[in-house]
Amino acid sequence: MATIETMSLVVVGSVAYDGVTTPAGKVDRMLGGACTYISLSASYFTKSHIVAVVGDDFAQEDVDLLASRGIGLEGLERVPGKTFFWAGVYSADMNDRETITTDLNVFASFSPKLPESYQSEPYLMLGNIQPALQNSVREQMNGLRLVGGDTMNYWINDFRAELLNTLKGWNFLLINDSEAKMLSGESNLQAAAARIRALGPKILVIKRGEYGATLFHDAGHFSVPGYLLTSLKDPTGAGDCFAGGFIGYLASRGVTVDSAPATDLARAVVYGSVMGSFCCEEFGVGRFRTLSRDEIEDRFQEFRAFTTF
Ligand code: AMP
Repeated sequence: MATIETMSLVVVGSVAYDGVTTPAGKVDRMLGGACTYISLSASYFTKSHIVAVVGDDFAQEDVDLLASRGIGLEGLERVPGKTFFWAGVYSADMNDRETITTDLNVFASFSPKLPESYQSEPYLMLGNIQPALQNSVREQMNGLRLVGGDTMNYWINDFRAELLNTLKGWNFLLINDSEAKMLSGESNLQAAAARIRALGPKILVIKRGEYGATLFHDAGHFSVPGYLLTSLKDPTGAGDCFAGGFIGYLASRGVTVDSAPATDLARAVVYGSVMGSFCCEEFGVGRFRTLSRDEIEDRFQEFRAFTTF
């Protein structure tokens, strides 16, 4: 079996400071960003390397947290200016959020540069950034076994042609249900999935927030319910942690475009759900300060128990 050392993953996206308000509390400024969440989550399954930019205000303790999870930081560029800042407020049931602030800061001129040592890594996860930038990263890599990523309504609506061009080169896409409907123009999930898979990504995961996720692939589809959390503090980053668990697990199994067994894909969706659920238990990346691989396995087995009949 592939080992954690050999099957490395490159993750591209935002490394940020976030301000978050939920019914459980408020934190004005804490480590966040899609690349941060994806790489922390994936680090439990495989070696991850990040490509991102931060400002000169980026704290050493935040670098230390990423390093403590073994995340490769050679591609973390530090430039003069402020780190990307995002702030949001969640609804009472935490299913909706309103963005209050998006200060791109140093992220505005982000042009991802891949260190040479990353270019032949086999797995690539493109976090939610402009599709043309996602494409430029993919083009800098050679010998990819599996590439894919995430997108959002803004790119679907305002950068459609650029996004469609980018998706052609992807093997997997993770997207939420409203975005899947927006991208495909179909309101039925099966029909939406068929249209999206015809655009490029043959492995498609449609996420339904707290209600779970459905995987569509060549051999059919597989659904998993959401984990019923007893204490939910902050859903920020849950989708990214899902993505990290999903691709991290596939990388650890050595899955390729031509060899993607249905059982590995299904388990990747369960690991994604497990990691998304842990993320919500504390504010920001707090849960990853203590989370152990044993806890992940225990929750994976819980999923097995409550989906078997
Ligand atoms: P999620 O909850 O999975 O959608 O991810 C939330 C994370 O995305 C937060 O930590 C933010 O810092 C980051 N984020 C929010 N808006 C953007 C944006 N426009 N571009 C890149 N990252 C963003």
